[in-house]
Amino acid sequence: MTVRKITEYPEEVLGKVGKPVTAFDKELADLCSDMFDTMYDAEGVGLAAPQIGLNLRLFVMDCDGIKLIAANPEIVHTEGEQSGSEGCLSVGKVPAVVIRPMKARLKAQDEKGMWFERDAEGYAARAFMHETDHCNGKLFIDHLPKLRRDMLVRKFKKEKNWK
Ligand SMILES: [Zn+2]
Repeated sequence: MTVRKITEYPEEVLGKVGKPVTAFDKELADLCSDMFDTMYDAEGVGLAAPQIGLNLRLFVMDCDGIKLIAANPEIVHTEGEQSGSEGCLSVGKVPAVVIRPMKARLKAQDEKGMWFERDAEGYAARAFMHETDHCNGKLFIDHLPKLRRDMLVRKFKKEKNWK
């Protein structure tokens, strides 16, 4: 079990578009296992590679009964709308209400390189989109209006100073 250090805002890697995963080997499987360990240790429901400092299009999640590894993820379909609280391990879990589609279809490769599609709704759909965003260098706070984004970042920085 290896818990890796979680990268926090505003580290540069969190704002970069990830490189595609090309090798589906033991190294990737080990990396995914570390990512699950890191995610569970931090009590998160999803973790993307940039959050442990790697510029890679890869995430793991275990949310609402959906546990998976997604390499080279894409959201290929969305439907409806939901408004709900969202947080991120890289932003100290400071929550904010984010409007997102209610349903999402994820297309990705598993740790062996097999392509799959998976549908989710509600919280799990939110996780699909949040983690896929990470692979595109985007954070959930980028979905917020500037004023609310600035407030959240201030709150996060304040929390950091208290530690
Ligand atoms: Zn996140």
